[in-house]
Amino acid sequence: MSHIECPCGQGEYVQCCQPLHLGQSHAQTAVQLMRSRYSAFAKQQIDYIVQTTALGQQQALDIVAIAEWSRSNQWLKLDVVNANEKLDKNHAMVEFKAHYHDGKSAQIHHEISHFVKHTEAWYFLDPTTEMQITMKQACICGSGKKFKQCCAQFL
Ligand code: ZN
Repeated sequence: MSHIECPCGQGEYVQCCQPLHLGQSHAQTAVQLMRSRYSAFAKQQIDYIVQTTALGQQQALDIVAIAEWSRSNQWLKLDVVNANEKLDKNHAMVEFKAHYHDGKSAQIHHEISHFVKHTEAWYFLDPTTEMQITMKQACICGSGKKFKQCCAQFL
């Protein structure tokens, strides 16, 4: 039996992020979702990247660019630097460093990401996604609250 390490560094892939990528379970915390999204980049699980982005942002994602970014880098290591799972009732923050090699040199992507929980599942709030939404409209996460009173403050 070959043991394949999970890209996120928390153990064996089959017992770590793979069940999430296969839709057999879902992330219990924002940190776990963040880890599984890093692993998804490493394993080129592009559907998972899309499905774990905020519901109202999924259609605006540039899937070709995501797939290219996933494939063109060698994903070396993930460090979760800091996390706050309870910014409020349904939002969390995770600060991380993703170490990768772009074919020419080693790089570190340092990011503070925000996440929203909706119907028991966590989603990534993508600050780069173009959104045609006003502050008074229903939030992109599906909470039913106004955007202004929900995810807008974390984007
Ligand atoms: Zn929201």
